[in-house]
Amino acid sequence: MKPVIGITPDYNAGDREDMGGKEPTYFLRARYVQAIEDAGGLPILFPLVIDKARQRQLLSQVDGLLITGSGSDLDPQLYGERQCVPFRQMSHQRSSLELGVSKLVYGTHHPTLGICGGMQSLNVALGGTLIQDIAVQHSTDIAHSPPGSATKKAHGIAIATHTLLHKIIGKPLIRVNSSHHQSVKKVPGRLVTSAVSPDGVIEAIEAPAHPFLLGVQWHPEFLYKHDPIQRKLFQAFVKAARSYKASRAMRSA
Ligand code: MN
Repeated sequence: MKPVIGITPDYNAGDREDMGGKEPTYFLRARYVQAIEDAGGLPILFPLVIDKARQRQLLSQVDGLLITGSGSDLDPQLYGERQCVPFRQMSHQRSSLELGVSKLVYGTHHPTLGICGGMQSLNVALGGTLIQDIAVQHSTDIAHSPPGSATKKAHGIAIATHTLLHKIIGKPLIRVNSSHHQSVKKVPGRLVTSAVSPDGVIEAIEAPAHPFLLGVQWHPEFLYKHDPIQRKLFQAFVKAARSYKASRAMRSA
């Protein structure tokens, strides 16, 4: 039996011309689903339920959680700030589900991977804050959202030793793609920074007290097919979910 991985989809609440117009619509890049399948997991898509008990029940059905990226950003009020630059805010349905399950998995120890906006949701859910626009609020000469294909590597990152990310990747320096205009600002006490780009932008976070809770700011789902280093991320994640599944089976036996 393959470990089941819950995936958070994106959502048009009826105000997005690009994804279904006025008709409320779920959507998700198939790459996320394919990456989990290719790593040996069984992906299922989470509905965006807001009720805490239902979120808990959803999590009880899976062995791991993948929080995906999106074209919209968290409402800064969720981390105690006012919006100070223009950007499209994420639907209430999506942020409620993502922040809710992010808080829950810290306690349940579900293996969790947050990608791009998913990393930002993990950080905010556990008490951190975000840079609302890197180009405006951070001094840098790196383009973190360059035009062109997300399959292209955009900048280097330095991976901190003695971190889960370092254990998975096995290298201190790699190059990654980049498709984000926001990034993690304050890392909360339960998380640590596991990678930074040369301009100091935080590119990965993780929870030392959790068996596998990792956020990456880049997009491994665009790279893993041709990059064995990026493949390791999904393989390690699904492996952790397999262990979680086995330990749950032992507890309930
Ligand atoms: Mn970047």
